[in-house]
Amino acid sequence: MKKIIAMILAGTMALSMMACAAPAAAPAAEPAAEAAPAAEETAEEAPEASGFTTVADGVLTMGTNAYFPPYEYYEGEEIVGIDAEIAAAVAEKLGLTLKIEDMEFDSIIIAVQTGKVDMGLAGMTVTEERKENVNFSDTYATGVQVVIVKEDSDIASVDDLADKMIGVQLGTTGDIYCTGDFGEDHVDKYNKGNDAVMALVSGKVDAVVIDNEPAKSYVAANEGLKILETEYVTEEYAAAINKDNTALLDAINGALAELKADGTLDAIIGKYISAE
Ligand code: GLN
Repeated sequence: MKKIIAMILAGTMALSMMACAAPAAAPAAEPAAEAAPAAEETAEEAPEASGFTTVADGVLTMGTNAYFPPYEYYEGEEIVGIDAEIAAAVAEKLGLTLKIEDMEFDSIIIAVQTGKVDMGLAGMTVTEERKENVNFSDTYATGVQVVIVKEDSDIASVDDLADKMIGVQLGTTGDIYCTGDFGEDHVDKYNKGNDAVMALVSGKVDAVVIDNEPAKSYVAANEGLKILETEYVTEEYAAAINKDNTALLDAINGALAELKADGTLDAIIGKYISAE
């Protein structure tokens, strides 16, 4: 329950932010938007002018795990999705070229901490533990941890998971919550969400706990699965940035505020997620 309250708090903050940014685009966006026109005027020297540095000059390097549709996934050789498009829009605002590096989800925070990437953008949930290692930008989307089971499963709610085997993606909040609530012995950890779903299909696990949007993709792609209506935890997604690079954090927040205010963010999300 503690978790849920924390998430609700985070959600309320995000909502009030969005409430500020959305209706009155021009006045509400003023404080956050101030930095950006200045950066645009001197687009060439934007990084120096705004006081932030990036891992590679003129490049915004994003670390992600590109097996998380519709936030990031491969279309041929290219990584596309909500996060990829938001990152491209942020990079453009900052006068940078976007470079995406695909890695295990579990490695993204370390890559941010060790300066391999400028930001982790991976449908990553803001958590207190992660905040000890990285800074998070303002949130840009909400996620829900849901439970996928076989259509004929006797599991009807989160409580029914108690004596079952649950498949999760290693290092995700689904992993953290299930391990905390049901114990290590009841949780099978996979490097990719899809591998956890394959384990469910083949009967190695009884359920998979994962974020709602990828869950929808996996259920659509595999016959005989369903998502339980009862939700496990609601959470907020944000970009993870190195704690020493607060100038980059400010710049990214400034860009995100502009993208929220002018409707770009909603348009990107709407392109991939249809409102129900
Ligand atoms: N939102 C989840 C987390 O942050 C899962 C993210 C992911 O698998 N890309 O842990």
